[in-house]
Amino acid sequence: MTRRRWIADEFSGDRAALTGAHAAHLSRTLRARVGQQFEVACGEQVRRATVSSVQDERVEFTLGEEVTAREAVPIALLLAVFKFDRMEWAIEKCTELNVTTIIPVIARRTEKHLALAADKRAERWRRIAREAAEQSRRIAPPEIANPVKLKEALANFHDPAVMPREDSSFSREICGQPRCDLRIVLAEAAPEATLSEVLRAHDHVTSLALAVGPEGGWTTDELQLFELTQWLAVSLGNTILRAETAAIAAVAITRAEC
Ligand code: SAM
Repeated sequence: MTRRRWIADEFSGDRAALTGAHAAHLSRTLRARVGQQFEVACGEQVRRATVSSVQDERVEFTLGEEVTAREAVPIALLLAVFKFDRMEWAIEKCTELNVTTIIPVIARRTEKHLALAADKRAERWRRIAREAAEQSRRIAPPEIANPVKLKEALANFHDPAVMPREDSSFSREICGQPRCDLRIVLAEAAPEATLSEVLRAHDHVTSLALAVGPEGGWTTDELQLFELTQWLAVSLGNTILRAETAAIAAVAITRAEC
């Protein structure tokens, strides 16, 4: 059986610690004991770890040998903001499927009250992603950007000569690189190509981005903007999926193919 994995809040040499609410979950809820064995992610490394001290808001570990982790193709997910309970579910499941970055996007058909409240949700989304990352033994949670308008999100993926960037709150590096090799927008009215077909035709990608629309779908203007910035529109089949189903299916298919 694999050991439960934690993401360290602090680490240095052969020592690591969880702190605050994160530690309280392990110390109080899970009743951690000195001597218990876990895995602890410390930056780029995952190490075997033994609990060396337990306090309510601080759990310390002595670190052992490194556990090898398999490299996965980085996936950035542009997720149009939709109903928060469903969106949280999508963030949790896509984190389990090892998405690298999630960029919440305010799309034309994102409901107004959700668009207004999205900024305040980002911290909660990060917490959900972190818990899901630990649960699924990831080395680190996905980066969750602050919500941005679609145009700004696309500018971050594109050549500034074609589409100038406005001021942005999220990292210039997406998928660990300045831009992704392959950019795919999921569109229910899409064209001939399915996601699997497009992925098989690009079997050497080293990073990619997927974009999933809001409950009302992308507008024609938005789909044109994707096209202008060299995103390929693909289908997930003949049925219309809810946004959260489309996000999870798209990431799962991509993980299976890449
Ligand atoms: N406008 C649509 C309607 O009611 O007819 C529904 C949009 S759907 C609920 C939300 C998003 O999920 C879409 O913008 C798209 O990104 C994705 N999606 C859903 N079904 C899809 C499919 N069959 N192929 C590709 N994308 C799909």
